Amino acid sequence: MSTAADREEPAMAEQADVIVIGMGPGGESAAGQLAQAGLTVVGIEKNLVGGECPYYACIPTKMMVRAADALAEARRVPGLAGGSEVRADFAPVAKRIRDEATDSWDDAVAVERFEKAGGHFVRGTARVTGFRTVTVGDREFEASRAILINTGTDPAVPPIEGLADTPFWTNREIVAVTQAPESMLVLGGGAVGLELAQAFSRFGTRVTVLEAAERILSPEEPESSALVAEVFADEGIDVHTGAAAESVTHDDAGFSVRAAGTELKAERLLVAAGRRTNLDGLGLGSIGVDTTKHTLETDPQMRIAEGVYAVGDITGHGAFTHMSMYEAGIGAAHILGDETVAAEYRAVPRVTFTDPEVGAVGLTEKQAREQGVSVATAVSQIPDSTRGWIQKSGNRGFIKLVADAERRILVGATSAGPAGGEVLSMLTLAVHERTPLARLRDMVYAYPTFHRAIEDAVKKLPEELT
Ligand SMILES: Cc1cc2nc3c(=O)[nH]c(=O)nc-3n(C[C@H](O)[C@H](O)[C@H](O)COP(=O)(O)OP(=O)(O)OC[C@H]3O[C@@H](n4cnc5c(N)ncnc54)[C@H](O)[C@@H]3O)c2cc1C
Repeated sequence: MSTAADREEPAMAEQADVIVIGMGPGGESAAGQLAQAGLTVVGIEKNLVGGECPYYACIPTKMMVRAADALAEARRVPGLAGGSEVRADFAPVAKRIRDEATDSWDDAVAVERFEKAGGHFVRGTARVTGFRTVTVGDREFEASRAILINTGTDPAVPPIEGLADTPFWTNREIVAVTQAPESMLVLGGGAVGLELAQAFSRFGTRVTVLEAAERILSPEEPESSALVAEVFADEGIDVHTGAAAESVTHDDAGFSVRAAGTELKAERLLVAAGRRTNLDGLGLGSIGVDTTKHTLETDPQMRIAEGVYAVGDITGHGAFTHMSMYEAGIGAAHILGDETVAAEYRAVPRVTFTDPEVGAVGLTEKQAREQGVSVATAVSQIPDSTRGWIQKSGNRGFIKLVADAERRILVGATSAGPAGGEVLSMLTLAVHERTPLARLRDMVYAYPTFHRAIEDAVKKLPEELT
């Protein structure tokens, strides 16, 4: 007769109020809020608490951009303030990323912060097995209130002949480099590829960007694409559009990429060709969720099923840290019993941190027309504003307004230029609050600021709208 000790007893599920799967910016923030509110929260992370943003994405890449912009500003001294001699060195950037941003890719501080807030941290890969149950290896967890999923994305690696067998970089590797390569091919002319292309070019790397679409920064306004292409051409960054990479080889001399009938060579290859959501193997079929789609469909309270919430890149509302944290706030509030919360997406801001920065909010002109909006647009140029004229070198940019002519409000806007992402803030508020165009025309804009170009653009809209 077997005893309880030698029988294969199923392990008891560990109990919690909420289980958070994936602790990217959204998961970490929701888990912290819920733990601080007194709930028992199990937070599960397979890699680093904080996710992509602090260790491989926003923060390290913006440290590179900040340093590269300092080099560009120093090179602008001639013609404005005398002479300058610039000697670029990537070592301080690499050190800052290692020491200040990522703690050498160690999340001990973030784990401790979560545990101090009262959370229970589990390192491992989680799998949903039911509406309330999750496994991590041979441990099982049961949630009395909710499961919140924030599994984010991995770099997408396109199925290009030969690519998979080469030592290419994605954002995960490039943030750890200690010196700028002599030359680099960048696959992808979106925000990530363009920011890194310009940053490394300013450190002396000879950069070539390959973009399969007809223009770089293709989700944004055509004026934004043209502006960045023009600046890149002036800075000596080679941009090939309509150029899908067909095959890749690598040998001791570096990479060779075949695209649009030409062979391009470089020491390094950066793949910045979009993201792949981490939904495979998550077990969502067990709760009846369609697992063939790239993103999860959420209701306004961020639920994909009763008691199961999803936030961040996996929801497809914009792959930005601010979106992940916004959705986390909605989901956490709803789990805590606030029935009034509901996500709104009409004023989603986004910034491409090239120089000039390209900030945008809401709909582009094309999107507005596709949605049947009666569209009116206006564009003002930053160099034509007093501040832009004073700025002189490095002053390129524009403001574009996309107005709904019937409702006489803005439904979208672009702010490109020096500090374009900061200037964007009042446009975000205007789209969010549906501020009447007449109010934007009546208000006072400080002189001489870059944001006065917004007033110039408002005045260019048809008079009857303002
Ligand atoms: C190079 C680059 C630069 C960027 N710059 C900006 C920027 O300037 N501003 C901005 O707003 N956004 C930027 N982004 C986007 C930003 O990084 C993401 O939108 C942000 O990280 C939010 O993602 P998330 O919350 O969905 O999850 P992620 O950050 O992707 O984190 C998800 C976490 O879930 C974990 N995980 C996955 N599956 C499991 C599982 N089964 N079990 C346990 N854990 C799991 C992963 O290990 C990961 O830590 C950038 C992205 C890149 C690639």
